[in-house]
Amino acid sequence: MVVRVTASRPVTVTSILEGQPLILVNSSAHEYWGVAGIHAMARPGRRMVRIRAFDELGREVRREALMEVVAGKYETEDIELSPETAALLDPDLLKAEREKLQNIWAQVTPRKLWSGVWQQPGGMDTTSAFGTRRSYNGGPVTDYHGGQDFRANAGDPVVAPAAGIVALAEPLKVRGNSVWIDHGMGVYSGYFHLSEITVEVGQEVKPGDLLGQVGSTGLSTGPHIHWEVRVHGIAVDPLEWTQREIGP
Ligand SMILES: [Zn+2]
Repeated sequence: MVVRVTASRPVTVTSILEGQPLILVNSSAHEYWGVAGIHAMARPGRRMVRIRAFDELGREVRREALMEVVAGKYETEDIELSPETAALLDPDLLKAEREKLQNIWAQVTPRKLWSGVWQQPGGMDTTSAFGTRRSYNGGPVTDYHGGQDFRANAGDPVVAPAAGIVALAEPLKVRGNSVWIDHGMGVYSGYFHLSEITVEVGQEVKPGDLLGQVGSTGLSTGPHIHWEVRVHGIAVDPLEWTQREIGP
């Protein structure tokens, strides 16, 4: 979701969605914008975006905007895991890895580093779509798929879909060899299960730059590309970024 605010004079703008601060930055003279993600398991219904603007004399204007969260069309799938792969679902291990990534996603570069529509980072057709409800080894649905999986062969290239700066490039227990790119505005994209990583933290990437090679490291049932996009830490549908330009 993109929020845009136009003011008639210079202001400082703050905004809140669902109790969470939504960071708005200048896009032109008196215009401000920000991006927010809606959780894939969120209940459908109305949400209020609350905006407060202050001018240089400290005078305040408040605005509220209602938006409607509608139900997505998500499938359900059961994943068969071998005992040693299932051991990677250990709650302590999952928590430690999630916290490490949350610390990265919390760092907001307050400008848009990408431009235009994103490209698919490699692979072929989709094998598991974003938001698919998941159970493991016939158990109850406990999870959802936070990314988009593409069919790919081991060793195939995985490339940057859009410009950004590499924020993480290292092996993780659950996600395997991983790369995360900071695209600015609180938007990050991630690539898991790589056999090889070919970038370093701090490196600038352009669309099409090689990030690594397809593999099956970590919690994975075979070589594929898992592509994830996070907006202020919330996983969103990566394909949306390839279908339209998201910007101010
Ligand atoms: Zn996946």
